[in-house]
Amino acid sequence: MLTTPDFAEITPTAAIRKDRHGNRAKCLQRLVRLDMPVPPTVALSFDTVRAIADGRMPDLEALVGLFGPGALLSVRSSSETPDWGGPGTILNVGMCDATADALAETHGPDVAGAVYTRFIRSYAVHVHRLDADDFEGPITPRLAKAAYEAEMEEPFPQDPTVQLAEVLRSMARAWEGTTARLLRQAQGAPADAGLGLVVQKMALGPAQGISGAGVVQFISSDTGEPQITGRYLPRGQGRQALTEGAAQFIESDPRGPALEDVAPEQVQALRDAHGLMRKRLREEMQIEFTLMDGELSILDAVRTPRSARAEVAVAVALAESKVIPREEALNRIPPYTLNGLLHRQVKAGADRDVLTTGIPAAPGAATGKIVFSTTAATASAARGEPCILVRRETSPEDIRGMHAAQAILTERGGVTSHAAVIARGLGLPCVAGATSLQLDPRKKTITVPGRRVFHEGDIITLDGSSGEVLVGAAEMIEPALGGAFAKLMEWADDARDIGIRVNADTPEDAAMAQRFGVDGIGLCRTEHMFFDAIRMTVMREMIFAENAQDRAASLDRLLPMQREDFIKLFELMKGQPVTIRLFDPPLHEFLPRDREGIRALAEALDLPVSRVAQRIEALQEFNPMLGMRGVRLGITVPEIYEMQARAIFEATVASSEKGAAIVPEIMIPLVTACREVEIVKSAIDGIAAEVRTKSGVDFTYRLGVMVETPRAALRAGEIAEHSAFLSFGTNDLTQMTYGLSRDDAGRFMSAYVQQGVFSEDPFRQLDVDGVGELVLLGAERGRAARPELTLALCGEHGGHPESVDFSRRAGFDYVSCSPYRVPVAKLAAAQFAI
Ligand code: PEP
Ligand code: MG
Repeated sequence: MLTTPDFAEITPTAAIRKDRHGNRAKCLQRLVRLDMPVPPTVALSFDTVRAIADGRMPDLEALVGLFGPGALLSVRSSSETPDWGGPGTILNVGMCDATADALAETHGPDVAGAVYTRFIRSYAVHVHRLDADDFEGPITPRLAKAAYEAEMEEPFPQDPTVQLAEVLRSMARAWEGTTARLLRQAQGAPADAGLGLVVQKMALGPAQGISGAGVVQFISSDTGEPQITGRYLPRGQGRQALTEGAAQFIESDPRGPALEDVAPEQVQALRDAHGLMRKRLREEMQIEFTLMDGELSILDAVRTPRSARAEVAVAVALAESKVIPREEALNRIPPYTLNGLLHRQVKAGADRDVLTTGIPAAPGAATGKIVFSTTAATASAARGEPCILVRRETSPEDIRGMHAAQAILTERGGVTSHAAVIARGLGLPCVAGATSLQLDPRKKTITVPGRRVFHEGDIITLDGSSGEVLVGAAEMIEPALGGAFAKLMEWADDARDIGIRVNADTPEDAAMAQRFGVDGIGLCRTEHMFFDAIRMTVMREMIFAENAQDRAASLDRLLPMQREDFIKLFELMKGQPVTIRLFDPPLHEFLPRDREGIRALAEALDLPVSRVAQRIEALQEFNPMLGMRGVRLGITVPEIYEMQARAIFEATVASSEKGAAIVPEIMIPLVTACREVEIVKSAIDGIAAEVRTKSGVDFTYRLGVMVETPRAALRAGEIAEHSAFLSFGTNDLTQMTYGLSRDDAGRFMSAYVQQGVFSEDPFRQLDVDGVGELVLLGAERGRAARPELTLALCGEHGGHPESVDFSRRAGFDYVSCSPYRVPVAKLAAAQFAI
C-alpha cells in the first residue's frame, strides 16, 4: 500500500537531510539552529515531490494549518546541489479575494491590489503556462482574474490548499521535464536526482513602519573582497529589490538613500547574521530578508555567486581566518577555475555574437583586428594595434607573427597542433580547427556560411577557453595573479607530492614560469630558439650547406647564440634542473613556403630561386611527423646535436664559474631503438670530454630519452640502461599509438567525440586505457632495469588534473607542462595528495 506523502516542519531537531530534502532545506535548518529569525518553514522531501508528480498529495489542510489562517506562503525549490537548478520561486500562495480584502485593511488597497495581481500573473504563467503577454501592463486583480478565467474556463481558485496543490504539482512536474533534466545532468546531476520543496510563511509588512524586502551579500562577486552590496526595496517582496530602480542601498551611501539610514540596528543584525553564517556554515552567504514594521526575518541564504577570482579569494580568506583548514581551501577550488584568473576572460553575461566555434586550444580571450600573415601582424604590433593572427595552420615561420599577435585562430589543427602548443607557451588565447571558416589568404577574407565576409582589419574577439570566435569587441575581465592566488599556490606547494616542472623554450617562458613557481624545466624544445629572424637565416644556410665544412660554418655561428640561451636559462632557473631536448622537428619546417619567402631566401643565400625551390621540394615529406625528425636527424646529420651539446656544456661551464653548479639534463627525442641512444650518447660523451679538457672545468650531465614512440615504450628496459631519465612525450605517443596525425585530427575529432567513438579528444585528455597502458608498461620496464631511473610526463597532457593523478599513482617524479598550466597542475597535485 502506498503511504501518504509527508512533510516536515523545519525545527532544530527535525530529521532534515541534504540528500533527502535538498540543500536549501538543510541550509534553512542550520539557520534555525543558529537562532536566526527564519519564518515558519516546511520541507517536502524528494520522495514526496516524486509522489506529487505522480498525482499523490500530502495532507495539504494539515500543512496549510501549520501556518495559521490567512497566511501567505512562498514555495522554493531545494535540489541537492544548487548548481542543479530547479523551478523558480513562487510567492504569495494563499492570495485570494478574502486575503486581499484583509491586506487592504492593513496595507491599503494599492499594496493589496499589487500583491494580488502579481500572484495571479505568476500562478497563470508558471503554474498553468498561460501567455505572459495577457497579464502584462497596468492591470488590476479584477482584469487579471478575467484574463485567467477566459483562458482556463474556470474562476481563479480561492482555496489556498487548491492553489498550493497546483503550485506543488507544477514545480514537481517541471523538474521531470526533459530540458530541466538535460540541464542538470550537464552540471553532473545523476539521472535520478530528486527535487525537494520548501514552503515558507511570508512576512508581509504593514504599510506603516519600516517594511520591505532585500538581498545582501558581504563580498564583491567579482573580486571576493569584503564589501557590502545589495538592495532593499521598501514594500518590496522576494528578490524584487535586485531588479527595481527604486531600490535603496543597504549601507549608508552618498549616492542615495540606504536602509542603514533608517534602520541601523537591523543592518547591524544582518552583519552579525552574516558573520555567524560565515563562521558556522563555513561559507560566504548571500541573505534574503524582509522587514515587517522594523522586525527582521531571514527568509533564505545561498552561497554568494562569484567569479573564479572571488572563489579563490573567499577560500583563502576563510582559511586565513581559521574558519576552514588550508587543505579544505585547496580542495574547494576546481583546478580549472584558475584559468579564469591567469588570463583575460570575456566577462560573464557579456554580449556574445558567435561567428563560429573551433577547438578551445589555449585559454583566455583577446580582441583585435584580423591579420593573415606574420608581416601584417608585426606591422600591426608596430602601430600599437592589437591583432588576431588567422592562419590555415601555423608553422615555425609564423612564430614572429604569433609573438606580435594577441591571439591565434587556425582553420586546421587541434590541441597539440603547432599553433596550440606555441600559443599556450606564450600565454596567448588560441582557437584551432575552426573548420567552418573559409579562409582566403589571397583575398584576405574569412567567410562563415550565412554570415557576412570578414576582411583584414575587421575586429573580432577570440575566446580560447570556449573555442568561440565572436564578432567585434567583447567586454573583458583582467587576470589577477597576486594576493589570494599567490597564497593558494604556496599552500599547494606545501601539500603536493609530485614535482611540477614547466615546458619552457625561451628565457621569457622560463621567467613567466618562475612567477608561478616551478621545480625546474622539464622540456626545453630547443628548435624554438631558432625562430628569430637572424637565427632563422643561419639555420637556413645550414640546411642549404653543400658540404660538411659549410654546414659546420653555419653551426659555428649558431653555437654562441645557443650557448647564450642556455646561460640565460641556467641563470633564471637558479640551479634548478633544466631538461634540454635536442633538435626535434623536420628541417623543412624552417623553410619558407610562399613564393615571396622563397624569393627572399634565394636572395639571402645568393642562389637562384629555382635551386632554392628545388631544395625545398626535396625536403618535403608526405608525413613529416613520421619522417626525418628527432633522433633520426641526430643520427644522419650529427653536427646539429654536436653543436647543441657543445653549447649546453659551454654554458654549464660558464654558469658554474659564476656560482651555481649546473647539472644539465639532455634529452633525445623520438627514439625507437636502443642503438640510437648509444650512438648519440657516445657522440655527446665525446663533446663533454672535449669541453672539460679545453675549459679545465669538471662537470657532469644527465642523459635521458623521450619516450614518444610505442616501440620506445616497449623497449624501455634496454633504453633505460643508457638513460638517467625517461620522459614520456604523450603528444607524439598519442599520435603514434592511435595512428592519428596531431595536426589533422581536428578535422574529425568533434564528430568522433560527438558520436562517442572517443570519450574525449585523446590529445586533450590522456587516453589512460591505451596510451596510458604503454606509459605504465614503459615505466615498469624502465624501473625494473634501472631502479633509480627518473620518470616524467611532458606532453601537453602534463598539466591536466587527470594526468597528474595518473603520473602520481604510477610513481612518477614529475610532470612538465606549459607555463600557464602550472597553477592548475599544482593545485590538482595538492588535491590528490591531501
Ligand atoms: C610530445 O611529443 O609529447 C612532446 C612533448 O614533444 P613535442 O610536442 O614537441 O613533439
Ligand atoms: Mg614529441
